[in-house]
Amino acid sequence: MINVPKGTKDMLPSESHKWQAIERAAKKVTSLYNVKQIRTPVFEHAELFLRSIGDSTDIVNKEMYIFEDKGGRKMALRPEGTAGVVRSVLENNICESVPQKLYYIESVYRYEQPQAGRYREHHQFGAEFFGSELPCFEIELLSMAHMFLREIGFNDLRLRINSIGCDKCRAEFNKALREFLASVNDKICGDCKRRAEQNPLRTLDCKVPSCREVYKAAPRLNDYLCDDCKAHHAQVLKGLDAAGIKYFADENLVRGLDYYTRTVFEFCDGDLAVLGGGRYDGLCEQLGGKHTPCVGFGCGIERLIAAAETRGIEFDDSAPKVFVAAQCDAARAECACLTEKLRAVGISAESDLMNKSLKAQFKYADRQGFLYVLTVGEGELQSGVFNVKRMADGSVTAFDRAALVDGIKRLVG
Ligand SMILES: [Zn+2]
Ligand SMILES: [Zn+2]
Repeated sequence: MINVPKGTKDMLPSESHKWQAIERAAKKVTSLYNVKQIRTPVFEHAELFLRSIGDSTDIVNKEMYIFEDKGGRKMALRPEGTAGVVRSVLENNICESVPQKLYYIESVYRYEQPQAGRYREHHQFGAEFFGSELPCFEIELLSMAHMFLREIGFNDLRLRINSIGCDKCRAEFNKALREFLASVNDKICGDCKRRAEQNPLRTLDCKVPSCREVYKAAPRLNDYLCDDCKAHHAQVLKGLDAAGIKYFADENLVRGLDYYTRTVFEFCDGDLAVLGGGRYDGLCEQLGGKHTPCVGFGCGIERLIAAAETRGIEFDDSAPKVFVAAQCDAARAECACLTEKLRAVGISAESDLMNKSLKAQFKYADRQGFLYVLTVGEGELQSGVFNVKRMADGSVTAFDRAALVDGIKRLVG
C-alpha cells in the first residue's frame, strides 16, 4: 500500500459538498463584482518567488518546494497565489487597460511541519485587483471578501486593519525599529534576532509571549506614517464605515510578506482569522513591469471549512432526486431508459448498475440519500401506471406513463 504524502490530505467524496459550496460562493460573488478567473501553473521559476515574496521570509528561506528540472532550471511549487498572477498579468499585458479584477482557486505548497490545520498542500481562494491607488479599491475588494464570507454563513465578522506605510515612511520606521531591537537584543527570541537583521517589521508579528511583552515599548509604525499614507488609511476606514463593515484598526497587524504597502488586513469571525491580504503597490515594478497599484486577498479553503465547522455552519449537500428501481430483470432496460429521460429534463437520477435485488436497491437509494424511488416491474410495464415513493415519509404518488416525466418534475420541484 502506498499512502498519501506526509502533510497532504485527500478531499474525500464525503467532504466534496463543502468544497463545492465554497467554490459556488466564490463564483457567485466574483461574478457580482465582475471579477474574472485566472489560472496559472502550479510551478514557476523559483526566481519569481525570491523576487516577490522576499528572500528574508520564512516562506522562501525554509518552506518552499524548490527543485531542478531535467533542463537544469531551478523551479518552485507556488507557495502563494499572488506572484504567479502578477507574473501572468505582466507577461500577457493584461493591465494595458485598468482596472483589472481577477480571482483564482488553486493549490499552494509549503514545506512545513504538519500540524492541526497546516498542510504542505493547501487550497486558496484569492483575488487580485490591479490598477487603482484610490482607497475605494480596498473597499471594493473588502466588500467582496465580506460578501463571500457572509455567503458561506459567517455572521460574526470583524476586520482587523492597519497601514504599514509606503517605502518612504517605512524606511524611517525601520531605522527606529532596528535601534530599538538592538537595545533589547538580549530579551528577544532567536527568530526575532534573525528577523531584526533581515526584516525588522516581521518581529512585531512574533507569537512568543516574552517578545510580545518587550515589543509593547517598540516604536509604533503609525507614528511614522507620512501624510499621504495617513490620509489614505483614514479614507479606507471611512469607506469601511460607509460600507457597513465592522473593523478594528489594529496597529499590531503586520503580514508575513514583504511586498505589502499601506493597507494590510485580516477578516476574523470571532477570534478565527479566515481571510487576509493587503495592498501591494510596488510588486509589479519589482517584477519588471510598470508601476501598477494593486490590492489582493487570499483565503485558505481548508482553514475556512474548519472555521465554519467550529461555528456550526452547515454546508448545502443537495441530495440526489430519483432512484429508478427495477423489480425484475425484464424491467431493467426500461429503468435505464426512464433514468436518462429524467436526467434530460434536469432531474438527478440513477438506476441499478449491480444487478441488485429490489430490496437491496431500496437500501442503496436510502443510503445515498435519494429523495424518491420510482419502481418499475411487470405490473407497471403492463398497466402503464407508475408509483413514485417519497423516501422521507413513504407517501406514494401514481402517474400514467405519458405524464410520468412531467409529473416527477413537478413532484421534485
Ligand atoms: Zn508613506
Ligand atoms: Zn520573537
